[in-house]
Amino acid sequence: MFDIKKLNNKCNEPNCENKPKKEKLIYEQTVRRGKKSLVSLYLCNKHICKANKLVTKLKSIEPKVVIDMEVNDLR
Ligand SMILES: [Zn+2]
Repeated sequence: MFDIKKLNNKCNEPNCENKPKKEKLIYEQTVRRGKKSLVSLYLCNKHICKANKLVTKLKSIEPKVVIDMEVNDLR
């Protein structure tokens, strides 16, 4: 669904060449260990909403796991 090998050089949407504008950090909230990072996505403004779909998907696969995300602006 995303190409995370592009890291923060390009938008992680596979066919997008734009510079990423936002970092979306998806993490699991655990009782014992607090936040556990799952993946960081770097996305342009056009594709930032795709990250929400991924979170929705993860939640449907693992309904017992509390998955949350935070968005950070990139310079
Ligand atoms: Zn993009």
